[in-house]
Amino acid sequence: MSTARQDAITAVNMYKSNGAALDFHATPSGALFASNVFSDKVMRERLPKSVYQALTRTIRMGEALDSTVADAVASAMKDWAIERGATHYAHVFYPLTGLTAEKHDSFLTPGEGSALSEFSGKELIQGEPDASSFPSGGIRATFEARGYTAWDPTSAAYILENPNGTTLCIPTAFCSWTGEALDKKTPVLRSMQALNKQAQRILKLFGHTNATPVTASAGPEQEYFLIDRNFFFSRPDLVTCGRTLFGAKPPKGQEFEDHYFGAIPERVLACMLESERELYKLGVPVKTRHNEVAPAQYEVAPMYENANVATDHQQLIMLTMKRVAEKYGMACLLHEKPFAGINGSGKHVNWSMGCSLGNLLAPGDNPHENAQFLVFCAAVIRAVHLHSDLLRLSVAHSGNDHRLGANEAPPAIISIFLGDQLTDVFEQLEKGAVTSSKHAGTMTIGVDTLPPLPKHAGDRNRTSPFAFTGNRFEFRAVGSGQSIAGPLVVLNTIVAESLDYIATALEKETGGDPSKLNAAIQKVLQSVISEHKAVLFNGDNYSQEWHDEAEKRGLPNLRNTVEALPALIAPKNIAMFEKYGVLNSREIHSRYEIYMERFCKDINTEALAALSIAKTMILPAAYRYQGELATTANALKAALGSDSDLTSLKTVTGLIGELEKTIAALDAEIEKNGIEDIAAEAKHFQEGVIPAMGAVRAVADKLEAIVADDLWPLPSYREMLFIK
Ligand code: ADP
Ligand code: MG
Repeated sequence: MSTARQDAITAVNMYKSNGAALDFHATPSGALFASNVFSDKVMRERLPKSVYQALTRTIRMGEALDSTVADAVASAMKDWAIERGATHYAHVFYPLTGLTAEKHDSFLTPGEGSALSEFSGKELIQGEPDASSFPSGGIRATFEARGYTAWDPTSAAYILENPNGTTLCIPTAFCSWTGEALDKKTPVLRSMQALNKQAQRILKLFGHTNATPVTASAGPEQEYFLIDRNFFFSRPDLVTCGRTLFGAKPPKGQEFEDHYFGAIPERVLACMLESERELYKLGVPVKTRHNEVAPAQYEVAPMYENANVATDHQQLIMLTMKRVAEKYGMACLLHEKPFAGINGSGKHVNWSMGCSLGNLLAPGDNPHENAQFLVFCAAVIRAVHLHSDLLRLSVAHSGNDHRLGANEAPPAIISIFLGDQLTDVFEQLEKGAVTSSKHAGTMTIGVDTLPPLPKHAGDRNRTSPFAFTGNRFEFRAVGSGQSIAGPLVVLNTIVAESLDYIATALEKETGGDPSKLNAAIQKVLQSVISEHKAVLFNGDNYSQEWHDEAEKRGLPNLRNTVEALPALIAPKNIAMFEKYGVLNSREIHSRYEIYMERFCKDINTEALAALSIAKTMILPAAYRYQGELATTANALKAALGSDSDLTSLKTVTGLIGELEKTIAALDAEIEKNGIEDIAAEAKHFQEGVIPAMGAVRAVADKLEAIVADDLWPLPSYREMLFIK
């Protein structure tokens, strides 16, 4: 009999931190910030002035990289890294798996007596990992295996520490032999370029011709679970799929609302402090942390940064949290839905755009007088309404299907929460001229000793998938485990398209005469709002009324990945991505293939794991319990000479029969896999395999509630979520 559960509980109970406590007095975290980053400060100190200036023009002003500076940068970077103990350098890239990939090369050329340091501009600028084992969706046949990594000077190089040595990591873009993007970074960079180009046209209309490039900013709030590793390893479903495929509802879940913002358990806090410290060294500006709604769920959020850098940093956050959690005997779960019946995890992506003029989505105190803000904000409204299909598909994958479209936040219908103040301003604008902004004022609490508090002009809304939150939009449908690159590419591109549309309309209306600008804005925005206000909704997004209303308004409700992904290859969307130079048709088709295939692989893996657990762990436990009950019944009959109560035995026997049947049905569904057409195959997984898996689980969870606890092989929800 397996004692894995008991062993896990004992281990949790005996847990002692194995590392020495971090000395926060000796090295305050502030002093550590970016200490392992080849930062602006380091570059200014170490690069020849002209090289530093050329590089900064590329980083800050988006100018083309002067390739003659690469040798000087490489040499300074190498010296800096070797001083910090680096033996290797790695081009870090972000393939379409959504993960981070790295290929390490030694600075040293071993052999020939003494070792030579080999790292020049050539090695800095370009790497050549074999691309054949990364998903390419048909872009590259296996015989054309070449792939290239290209240095991204706008995302700083850094040093990754390991007790046994350190590595210089260089963020790069990853493309095929034919120059097509095989990664997540390249389109982020292209989309930021597109956004800047169109935003500058609007700024020019307002007389700003000297603004620095407009960049998108992102601040992602990461939700995650931490559970003890002993439980994790006793759950083959968590190890293989990142989520539990079985598990009866525990007597206590999150209904007491006692976890959110609760006191953080000691071991968890120690772990958070160490990951934050590690991230600090890497220049990742993590700022807030708290308990989330579900038991064992937490959140961490960095300060917002340039969207490209934020994307790279987000990958580092996920890697670091997983790595550090292990040190504290825990497993960090980044899956969107590790446990049924309690909240899943998302990654709210806060997004805005700005330049030397400031944040272009900041309304100021009187938004009705801030025409420039109204133009940028209206562009976002139009973009989200016209392209909600793209936003929806940018967050579509099997894990997120458990959140979006299920009974959980946020819904799959993409709408915008604007809040009272802005809704009022745009309503005025649509009717005629805007003359006022609702003001917030202050709020008194009714206790004389407490200060009056300034109040926001609008309340918060937690149910909206896309909410205006004061000076940015918060895209809440993003999944906790996914790269934020895809959602950012879509946001940047669709907003660029809208800015292009509005700029063209305004340029036409004004005919180059600045005195006509205000009238032109009134006219253009009026029509934009009346055409796109259907996407605005300030109410409860979870309610059935909203679902009905949204349908009347014609807003799409794409409930799962299989329904959402085909929009990627819709001709109108391909045309837009091509027009703004973000992705070409081949790149888009390859992504469609890869994401569809990924969905099938995810579900296939889950189905196989469910089958194996049901057959080799749950069914045997049920048989044993059935045997015990039968033995008891026989013994009673022998002793008493009459039939005893056979209710439990009959129930267990009935459930065993059902479990055998559902297992056979799941087996049969899996047999049907291998359909040539990828869309049909995905549909089969969605409509055949997923329900068959659900049926196995439903019976297994019933058995969990009645089989003797000492026979049950899997750690329970109660144990995983509450034994810390
Ligand atoms: P909340 O939970 O209240 O939404 P958090 O403090 O957890 O807020 O996270 C807010 C996130 O939004 C942070 O990452 C923050 O840096 C980011 N943010 C703030 N202002 C902007 C902005 N102008 N553009 C993009 N992101 C922003
Ligand atoms: Mg938030």
